[in-house]
Amino acid sequence: MKVGFKTIGWRLTGRSPLGMGRSLVAQLMHILQDNRDVPVWLKTELVDLIVDKDRVVGAVVDRDGTSQRIRAEHGVLLGAGGFAQNDSFRREHQPVGDDWTSVAPGDEGDAIQIASDIGAELAMMDKSWWGASFKLEGDVQFSVWERSMPGCILVDQDGVRFANESTSYVDLGRKILEHDEKHGNAVPSWLILDNNHRKRYLFGDMPPGYTPSKHVESGDIIKATSLDDLADQCGMDADQLAETVDRFNGFAHNGIDEDFRRGDGIYDRYYSDPRVQPNPNLAPIENAPFWAIRMYPGDLGTKGGLVTDEHARVLRENGSVIDGLYASGNTTASVMGQTYPGPGSTIGPATTFSFVGMNHAAQRARRKERPSKVSSAQSEPVTETAGSE
Ligand SMILES: Cc1cc2nc3c(=O)[nH]c(=O)nc-3n(C[C@H](O)[C@H](O)[C@H](O)COP(=O)(O)OP(=O)(O)OC[C@H]3O[C@@H](n4cnc5c(N)ncnc54)[C@H](O)[C@@H]3O)c2cc1C
Repeated sequence: MKVGFKTIGWRLTGRSPLGMGRSLVAQLMHILQDNRDVPVWLKTELVDLIVDKDRVVGAVVDRDGTSQRIRAEHGVLLGAGGFAQNDSFRREHQPVGDDWTSVAPGDEGDAIQIASDIGAELAMMDKSWWGASFKLEGDVQFSVWERSMPGCILVDQDGVRFANESTSYVDLGRKILEHDEKHGNAVPSWLILDNNHRKRYLFGDMPPGYTPSKHVESGDIIKATSLDDLADQCGMDADQLAETVDRFNGFAHNGIDEDFRRGDGIYDRYYSDPRVQPNPNLAPIENAPFWAIRMYPGDLGTKGGLVTDEHARVLRENGSVIDGLYASGNTTASVMGQTYPGPGSTIGPATTFSFVGMNHAAQRARRKERPSKVSSAQSEPVTETAGSE
């Protein structure tokens, strides 16, 4: 209510506050523009890097249709995201393309490919920030809490459970892919819900207790009065589903998931219901109507990219540094490896290593320590652009 009243107050006085990620970005933009007077060019695409004697000394960009060469004597930092929206590039390295990604368009791996062309080493190209995702009216939605709350199970197309539904999104996404690779029946999988789940918890943007009939009519969501009918509509073996549900309901009553330890971990319990006991992640599937929705191996971005060192400098295959070239965020192979230690594992390292890299370049600039002795006159002819460094 406090936030609600404040928001109304802001609106009445003509202000539109930003929240969450947009607030973070807006504050960074404010620091750049108002406090430091740093120019920010939008609609400006990296096209190539300018290399002089193995050292990166600038970049070629396309600015609103005009090609410009920018001199950046002390370093270029690539922070142009990963390649989640580049279907063919993904399929070269990964088992899936861009069908179920939640990433914004434009995430096509340009920077990764451009740096690779000048000898940068790539790693972890087969990994992503995976996560179970569902589709409503064609829109992909990344599932964080829906599959974790009590009263649901994730099953393959044969009605068999194969993972801890409440584990981290990266682990669950990977489990879906691994199960599908072995058995060919997990893409899509089905999230089966007891009616208490639908009555009590938010699902995507559907409030508790309200499931628009258009989603059922379109077949995006399956609704059934019995588990047998649900299995039929999902095209799975009704006896197998009944066996899976029976076993799971036993776990829910005892509070211990003997198959996948759901609810044991502190991460699992972040999205749980403390009113449900003895295990806040486990409630039986027993109240009709029952619901089912397809779950796909989606992602919040790719994890593979340029290999960097502790100063965010880009490395070659032989481990040597590409002088003058830095990278951070999804343009790089993730410092987290294939795990998900917790919230912020993507934006945290992206901002940290941008800071570390540019600090490194700035310190070197201050010391006037230019590694190879390339003078301005020796470097390729470039268009000097105000503020380009
Ligand atoms: C729905 C969703 C929710 C998320 N929630 C969280 C969260 O809660 N916490 C968290 O830590 N992470 C979260 N993430 C992940 C996080 O948003 C990304 O990992 C992070 O934004 C990556 O940062 P980046 O700077 O590497 O790339 P991006 O944020 O993708 O920025 C790269 C930029 O480079 C631009 N670009 C691409 N190609 C070029 C080119 N050739 N020339 C110039 N510019 C180019 C792109 O347009 C883009 O603006 C979420 C992601 C999604 C999709």
